[in-house]
This record gives sequence, structure tokens and C-alpha cells, in this order.
Amino acid sequence: MSKMALQFAIGIVLVLGLSWLSSLLWGGKPETLPEDKTWVYRPEMTVEQFGSENGLSLQALKAVFGLKSPRDAGQTVSSFALSKEQVFDQAAKAQAIEAEHGSKNWFKIRLKFALWLAFLGTIFVLMRRGRITAGSRKWLYVGSLAAFGVALGSDPSPMGTVKDAVVLLGAKGVIFPPRLIAFGVFMLLVILANKFICGWGCQVGTLQDAIFRLNRDRRDRAGRFGQFKIPFAVTNTVRIVFFAGLTAAAFLWALDIVEPVDPFRAFKPQTLGIVGGVFLGGVLLMSLFVYRPWCHLFCPFGLVGWLAEKISLTKVRVDYDKCIGCEACSKACPSTVMDAILKQDRVAPDCFACGTCIETCPTKAISWSAGKRAAPPAGKFGGSPGTEAPTAPPPAPDQAAHQTRRDAAE
Ligand code: SF4
Ligand code: SF4
Repeated sequence: MSKMALQFAIGIVLVLGLSWLSSLLWGGKPETLPEDKTWVYRPEMTVEQFGSENGLSLQALKAVFGLKSPRDAGQTVSSFALSKEQVFDQAAKAQAIEAEHGSKNWFKIRLKFALWLAFLGTIFVLMRRGRITAGSRKWLYVGSLAAFGVALGSDPSPMGTVKDAVVLLGAKGVIFPPRLIAFGVFMLLVILANKFICGWGCQVGTLQDAIFRLNRDRRDRAGRFGQFKIPFAVTNTVRIVFFAGLTAAAFLWALDIVEPVDPFRAFKPQTLGIVGGVFLGGVLLMSLFVYRPWCHLFCPFGLVGWLAEKISLTKVRVDYDKCIGCEACSKACPSTVMDAILKQDRVAPDCFACGTCIETCPTKAISWSAGKRAAPPAGKFGGSPGTEAPTAPPPAPDQAAHQTRRDAAE
């Protein structure tokens, strides 16, 4: 226990300390919604004067007045078919978009997406070949965390694309187009490969997973000091209520309720307040005993991605001809999802594509592959009663011997 506590403490200090350094070196500006401002407007002023007195660029003026050429900026603001209120409304939206644009480090964002695609592609190949093992898994999490969180920072993130889009739309009535593109890329990844982006690319996701694996036995099959699987009905209800609260607060009061407790601030620790620090500490401590608490209980992308998982092209699949019904996979799965997959429950929780079930199965009945999941045969895993389950072949002699040796070693 003391070794685990020490590893946890060192890990947190390293993540916070190195992220602080990295964000000083090349962190973007803080992402905050611009304050409601009082606009200067005189009917006889030109568009250009309106821009300079209100701090709006030519680009923003184009969006407000629909200018066709820079020369149109010499016209008076009253010569456009817009009321004063419409000008103010359009100006507030243009200002919000400019503030978003100005807060980004575009080089870092492009680099991050390129590295994400390369890294996730590599993990996908390893997963397909069944090459992700207990030993490599935790180092892959640490590598991902170091690259996409510590080095490349909190922005962008899958969570941010959903949360910030809801908040900006609710508070200012605008959509930031680059965020829509990023969200499209993340959703495409979910459609192609389940929650690979959450499992292996998301900064907060890999941070929680790396912590969770500190409290696992050597073969990554069970918690060393107790780990708990909260029923999905509970976690998903909390997550839906939280999402509804986020949306209501944004649209009704222009408030961002995630901001004070945003765990992605771990990668920009100087912006963590007392509330944020305490909340983050709670989530990380809980991650030792519960699998990805932030993802299951609060994350807006977690919820949206869970819905999109239903149409994923590749995912964990079970070959029931090879399955001997030992349920080793569902016991080793960090959450309740493998149990639901095995039994083809109507509602399956999030699968974070960790590959533990694939590694654990003694008969290699589980794979990461394309196609619809088959239903278990009658009589197996609660299939139709009264029907004899087909006799499953025993594990191949070399697999069985290997398993026995591993069990003895454990
Ligand atoms: S569900 Fe978890 S892994 Fe996915 S975006 Fe949210 S925090 Fe990241
Ligand atoms: S079913 Fe469970 S063990 Fe298997 S990949 Fe998904 S989360 Fe991991």
C-alpha cells in the first residue's frame, strides 16, 4: 500500500510540475468568454470607425455587416439594413469568435492532431494483433499522458469540444467552426474504433487509467487493494443529469458549470483554484479504486461518445465457439461493460478499449474486430432457458499449460 501511495504522489507531482513548466513555455491564453460590453454606436460613423472604437478587426466587421470588400468599410453603419440592436448582437458574436481564435496555439493544435492519429493508429494495430499486455499497457498510458497532456497541454481535448461548444452556443449564440471540425474528427474516431480516443488519447482519460493501473495485480486482472464497479445505471444517470445541468446553465444564465472543476486544468495547474484543486484531487484519488470516475460520472464527451459507440465499426467481439464461459474477461474488465457484452445486455456501458479482456481470455475468444456482435448461444450466459449450451472446446493444450504456469507463478 505504501509503495502505491508513493507512486501515486510522485506521479501527481510530476504531472502537475511538468505541465506547469510546459504551459509556461507554450500554453495558449486562458479561454474565457468575453464580458458583455457597451458598444459605441453613432449612425453617422463609418464601419471602420465602429471597428476601431469597439476593438473589432476587419474580419469581425465583415461578419457583422456582411462587407463584400474592404472598401465597404468606408460606408456609414446606418447605410446597412441592420438595426442598432442587430449590429450589437452580431458584434457580440463576432467578438466571441475572435476571442476563441485568439486563445489558441494553432501550431500545437495541428501537431497534436497529427500525433493523435499516428499514436491511435499504432495502438489499433497492436490491439488487433492482441499485443497489448499488462506490462505494455501502463507504459503506453504514461507515454500518451506525457505527450498529449503534459507536453501538448489541456487544449484541445474531446471533452472540451463538447463542453465549450455547449457553453459558447448557450451564452453567445455562436458556434466556433474549428471546434466543430475537431468534434467531427473525434466522432469519426469513435465511429471507426469505439472509444479509442478516450481510451488512449484523452489527457484526463489516460491520467485516470494510469492511476487505476497502479492498484492492479501484476497481471492486471484485479485490484490489489480493492476496486469497485459502480452500477452503470447509477453512473450514467449522474452523467445525464450533469449534462442537462451544463446545458441549462449555459442557455439560461450564460454560465459554465464545468469551468471551476475542470480536471483538464491539471495540465495548466496555475489556473486551478481551491475548488478545482480539491475536486481534481478527489477524482484522482478515487481513480485508484474506481475506473475513470470523471469519464463515467461527469464528462460530456463521455456521454456523447457512449451514444456514438453504438454504431462503431470495430469493437470488442466474442467468438462463442471458442468461449468456455469462464468469465475471466468480465472479472478482469475494469468496468461492468465486458459482462454486458458477454451477455449481450440491451444497454452496454462505455468500453474504453483497454484490451484487458482480450489479453485475459484463455482461449483467445475475444478480439478487436469489425462487424456486429453475435448474441450468446442459447443456454450460455443467461441465453434462452431449456436449451443445452453447445459444448465449448477446451483450451488448446499449450494455452492451458501456459495458463496453469502463469496461475502458479501468481
Ligand atoms: S470520457 Fe474520459 S477519456 Fe473521454 S473525453 Fe471525457 S475525460 Fe476524456
Ligand atoms: S470490454 Fe472492458 S476490458 Fe475489454 S476493452 Fe472494453 S473496457 Fe477494456
